Amino acid sequence: MKAAVRTDDALAEVRAVTREHADTTDREARFPIEALDALRNRGFLGLVVPSEYGGLGATPAEMFTIAAELSRDCMSVGMIFAMHCQQVMAVVEHADRRLRTALLPRIARDQLYLASVTTEAGKGGHLLTSQAELTRDASTLHIDRFAPVVTGGAYADGFLITMRAPDARSGSDVSLVYADRTQLDVSAVGDWNPLGMRATHSIPMKIVGDIPADQVVGRHGAFRDIAVRTFAPLAHLGWASCWLGTADGALARTVRMLRDTRQRRDLNSELLLHRLSQARQRLDTVHALIQHATDVLAAGVADISTPRVQLLLNAVKLTASKECVAVVDDLIELAGLRHGYLCDSALKLERALRDLRSASLNYGNDRLHAADGALVLMDRDVRHV
Ligand SMILES: Cc1cc2nc3c(=O)[nH]c(=O)nc-3n(C[C@H](O)[C@H](O)[C@H](O)COP(=O)(O)OP(=O)(O)OC[C@H]3O[C@@H](n4cnc5c(N)ncnc54)[C@H](O)[C@@H]3O)c2cc1C
Repeated sequence: MKAAVRTDDALAEVRAVTREHADTTDREARFPIEALDALRNRGFLGLVVPSEYGGLGATPAEMFTIAAELSRDCMSVGMIFAMHCQQVMAVVEHADRRLRTALLPRIARDQLYLASVTTEAGKGGHLLTSQAELTRDASTLHIDRFAPVVTGGAYADGFLITMRAPDARSGSDVSLVYADRTQLDVSAVGDWNPLGMRATHSIPMKIVGDIPADQVVGRHGAFRDIAVRTFAPLAHLGWASCWLGTADGALARTVRMLRDTRQRRDLNSELLLHRLSQARQRLDTVHALIQHATDVLAAGVADISTPRVQLLLNAVKLTASKECVAVVDDLIELAGLRHGYLCDSALKLERALRDLRSASLNYGNDRLHAADGALVLMDRDVRHV
């Protein structure tokens, strides 16, 4: 594919920039502007924009692979990229022709970076409801919303924002709107000082502004459909790919260290071999699950909204979020204090562990298990896709 040819060298270049700045952006909890510029310079922000609009026309599977590769060096950069692509895909698949034609060529040509605004203070991570109401007059939509966690919000060129639909009858009538940064008054209203994912710079923001009425993505009140068909699948598979890439990178660095003869590690130790086997087995399991779910989506044979497909997608998220962090935790045990636990160790296991600790929280696993329980009851025959 055209994009794959173009991205091999380009990806190596972006990874080199990412590696160079990863320690600093983590330490300072600042946005990785150097890596974003490198992505921009090589056209990656238009990766999933269809070629008819000037993008690279890559598939979701290719996007997941790139997100995983970036995450080997810095999970924050991988997640920033995956989340941007998820936003772009929502426009590709759900915006009407006018909005697609206006926005997609700009994303590809000007390499616009899009941020996501779904979380709200009162409802936490619940994706399918919203409290802040979108108001409208004849030609304008008025946005006035607090957003507690906005990855890259200080640097984004555009925002996809969920809000309660105009004239909504309940909190689950949610609309998704697109707004250019220039159409908004966006201000940071706090800091970002987390345990991990520090370079995502996911600050709280106040977002106010007026946008033309036709910047709604899909129909008013119909965000549920966008969430089920695009947002959730791409989030679960994109994030899981980042988590897998981070843990793959950690294992690869550990194996290189072990094979370095200067380290004088006993490579016949049964305990060491058992730990390595278990780590690799966990990663292969996550990889297989991602691959299978990606194939199911690409084949388009099963209705994505059915309980079986939803359960599979949720299983990807739940399994990857638990297994990848467990792998890195075990690698720290295996590597020991000097290589495993020190912040300046070349293995970078402590950063990987801190970053991966966010996986269960990034759309809470408890929330997902509660949804899964109800889905299990709906799939009476217990058949898998
Ligand atoms: C690195 C990172 C980047 C992010 N970037 C963005 C972004 O760019 N834009 C954005 O909008 N959001 C972003 N988020 C937020 C994310 O999407 C989730 O909304 C957020 O992580 C959930 O936070 P929470 O735990 O406070 O909320 P909740 O999911 O509301 O959970 C709060 C508590 O309630 C519990 N709980 C919730 N529901 C149930 C249930 N049904 N049963 C039992 N217990 C339950 C949870 O276990 C948890 O203890 C980001 C998060 C992270 C970690």
